[in-house]
Amino acid sequence: IRLQFDLFMKGAAKMPSVPVVPCFCRKVVIVTGSSNGIGRGTAIFFAKAGAKVTITGRNAATLAVTKQLCLSAGAKDSEILELIGDVTDDSFLERLVSTTVEKFGRIDVLVNNAGGVSFANYGKMITDYPIAELDEMFAINVKPVLRLSQLAAPHLEKTKGAIVNVSGALHKQLSPMPCMAAAKGALDQITIQMAGSLIKKGIRVNSVNPGVVATNFAVAAGAPKEMMEQMMAAMAANPVIPLGRVECPMISERKMSFFAGKVVIFTGSSKGIGRDTAALFAKQGAK
Ligand code: NDP
Repeated sequence: IRLQFDLFMKGAAKMPSVPVVPCFCRKVVIVTGSSNGIGRGTAIFFAKAGAKVTITGRNAATLAVTKQLCLSAGAKDSEILELIGDVTDDSFLERLVSTTVEKFGRIDVLVNNAGGVSFANYGKMITDYPIAELDEMFAINVKPVLRLSQLAAPHLEKTKGAIVNVSGALHKQLSPMPCMAAAKGALDQITIQMAGSLIKKGIRVNSVNPGVVATNFAVAAGAPKEMMEQMMAAMAANPVIPLGRVECPMISERKMSFFAGKVVIFTGSSKGIGRDTAALFAKQGAK
């Protein structure tokens, strides 16, 4: 943006300019929990946008599928680093950072996406929950995020990079999984605290708080498939999801031309922001 601004001041480029496809060429991204679901969709997105991506999870077979999808999205074999391990293991987090830096030389973005749920006590009142489940939820959803961010911060400081924590939205209400809700609430606090302190080093920290996304997370946590489907349907009917449906995480499974067949009226589009936004709609297939 700064380069564009300098060029603009010299009359060599027009402002504002909206990049239709974000370019992450030469950027290095770590996505935890990218062997499935939202993390896999995120890794494919970055691969498609030209980034070098470290993908990771515990399951080698599903991680290999993610790698294949990244390659199909346009990445070269040498641009995808697969690392198998458990994010609750500190030594693995150290290896995740050191091996990424060894192979790619830098880190620009850390996506803390890996997370987990437990259905063992689903629907019970919080006062009836075993404390062990609270520990388990913090161990997978909170502690690895802070530890990995601590390890990546010196590298992100050099690149003025970014951290994105994948939290959730539904923990902000009464939840049938109160320990999970407590963990995601704590994660939001960690995001706020990290954002406020790491910005002093030029690192931006943000949170994505998805509502419901149709992944395999419940089945991965041992719930029967039917329960997962019922849960998705019930969640879609939840008034906190005004859209009334759940989203699919895989970019490749969504329509790539988001506005195909749509008609857009655009006032103030003869120049400036309006012109660039109108061009963006046109590029996405709108009339
Ligand atoms: P999935 O179960 O589809 O994917 C979870 C990913 O995390 C997998 O790649 C899994 O890899 C990895 N993972 C889980 N535990 C560990 C571990 N101990 N060590 C290393 N990797 C691990 O879940 P989603 O894609 O749905 O969830 C992704 C994130 O989004 C989570 O943080 C979740 O809480 C959050 N979220 C999801 C919502 C939804 O509706 N789907 C709603 C709100 C938030 P592997 O199995 O190979 O270990």
